[in-house]
Amino acid sequence: MIIAVDGPSGAGKSTVCREVACRLNFSLLDTGAIYRCVALVALEKNVMDEDGCADIAKHLDIHFVADKKGQKVFIGDREVTREIRTFEVTQRVNQVSAMGKVRAQLLDIQRRLGHCQNTIVEGRDIGSVVFPDAELKVFYTATPEARARRREKEFLAKGEKIDFEAVVEQIRLRDETEFHRENSPLIQCDDAVVLDTSELDFEQSCQALMKLIQSKS
Ligand code: C5P
Repeated sequence: MIIAVDGPSGAGKSTVCREVACRLNFSLLDTGAIYRCVALVALEKNVMDEDGCADIAKHLDIHFVADKKGQKVFIGDREVTREIRTFEVTQRVNQVSAMGKVRAQLLDIQRRLGHCQNTIVEGRDIGSVVFPDAELKVFYTATPEARARRREKEFLAKGEKIDFEAVVEQIRLRDETEFHRENSPLIQCDDAVVLDTSELDFEQSCQALMKLIQSKS
């Protein structure tokens, strides 16, 4: 069974999907990590153009290893779990993921990795492009304000403050890019169940997703 979970950045879907996959004994495929790996290699090889990035995607030897803390990401035998989350990679991945040829190259990899067993596949175009026949499609979202409040909480826990209005604005801008890019924009499929978690805490969000999955089992 494939569960497609799409939604904008920073809505908390990765953490919730990871927890739910663990509780239900599903595999998890974080497709953002695949795009991040392409961006990391492109940065390291100083490749900027679409054909060059598509070539990196074509030869990407990526695999995931589940462990107690989540998932480790490898390119060949090199672990890149932390490196793909740096600021530089996050900046570059937005350009790389907007390239049509890169997206086309990554389709097969995503389908191969997702098809092994019961899997929650999370990303931006999973229900619309990668697995249009998924048994369940969920559009996981939260308002920009709710997402900014979560970010504020994380920072306060570290003793740091954020400029709330500025973060709301950043989130809106990022949504604008993801919803309106030319290739595979983030869209809410007609047959997706919308899960708006603006008013839900982490446990409630997990329960809501689990309930949807269990209704299909
Ligand atoms: O989810 P995450 O933030 O790790 O995604 C990294 C980047 O990859 C984002 O720019 C996102 O838009 C892109 N992405 C994508 N399609 C996917 C998954 C992620 O374009 N299926």
